[in-house]
Amino acid sequence: MRNVLVTGGCGFIGSNFVRYLSESKEFHIVILDKLTYAGNTMNLAKINKSNYDFVEGDICNESLVNDLFEKYNFLGVFHFAAESHVDRSIDGPKDFIQTNIIGTYNLLQASRLIFKKSNKDFKFIHISTDEVYGDLDEGSFFTENTPYAPSSPYSASKASSDHLVKAWGRTFGLPVVITNCSNNYGAYQFPEKLIPLMIINCLAWKSLPVYGDGKNIRDWLHVSDHCSAIEAVFKYGLNNHTYNIGGNNEIKNIDIVTSICDFLDNYKPSKNGSYRQLIEYVEDRPGHDYRYAIDSTKIKNDLNWEPKESFNSGIEKTIKWYIDNKQWWQDIKEKKYNQKRLGVKI
Ligand code: NAD
Repeated sequence: MRNVLVTGGCGFIGSNFVRYLSESKEFHIVILDKLTYAGNTMNLAKINKSNYDFVEGDICNESLVNDLFEKYNFLGVFHFAAESHVDRSIDGPKDFIQTNIIGTYNLLQASRLIFKKSNKDFKFIHISTDEVYGDLDEGSFFTENTPYAPSSPYSASKASSDHLVKAWGRTFGLPVVITNCSNNYGAYQFPEKLIPLMIINCLAWKSLPVYGDGKNIRDWLHVSDHCSAIEAVFKYGLNNHTYNIGGNNEIKNIDIVTSICDFLDNYKPSKNGSYRQLIEYVEDRPGHDYRYAIDSTKIKNDLNWEPKESFNSGIEKTIKWYIDNKQWWQDIKEKKYNQKRLGVKI
């Protein structure tokens, strides 16, 4: 069986990717996840257990990482594990530096050994973000050649990890590929992020806090499209290349919030009237980037990948998922998750 490592496989995108990849049964998946506040073993609940091994552990733990590589002789690494929330990086940057930079370094070193010793077909896919490119004015787009200009401790730590990955490719010949993608949304996203927060607050008839004037623009990518892009990059992407992945959905934050309100006004009307009444503008995030927008021409032309979900179809599925999976997000809100650990020992 061909083993692949998915770091951060209990998080939002990582667990969606494990579900996606396990459907083809092409690979045996090993998940390494520290189960921080953002990791949740319930995200794996509907995936057939014979398709994966789960190891609870830290990517910063060098001996654990080396033992895992020794045991499973990985064909590939999909590196999702990260501290990922910008607001948390402003409140406390240290974990971001540790996990996003030192953790990535550990994985690269272990990958070097296995590539040299035993696995010539090895490939390291580093999942990064468009936030490394910084702020954009209207009319321009991030390409793979846009210079790095990160604004937050989060994006600076991700930019650092991208540079390490590129250096390990160039200096040590490690087969590496970087993906920089735009904002994801979909099922299993932790309730602190914009879209789930707004849906859940609407359902609880609570205030919908919108930063600043709400005019910041993001390019929204449905997580299922992100998963298919990563698979394409793993199978057909060129080593030492970067691929930008976007959803072709540039939308202002306030328009995201009103579209959620409008959908719920029809689908699940409240006796209190329109959900729009709940919108409340709050003090802006420090260093808040105005606009991100991805030019996905390279992945479209070279790997024949395009997003399948429009924003309307993706947001409808997402809102319905949060309505149908109330227990999942209620357990998170009440901190009742990760009580039963299901990991294997290494
Ligand atoms: P997430 O915060 O939902 O999940 C992160 C996962 O990593 C969690 O399961 C957590 O327990 C795990 N983790 C954290 N520190 C760890 C450590 N030291 N060792 C092992 N596991 C650890 O994040 P996400 O939204 O799923 O993002 C996944 C990746 O995609 C990240 O690298 C992020 O930078 C990138 N990304 C995310 C988005 C987005 O919109 N969510 C956009 C662009 C890029």
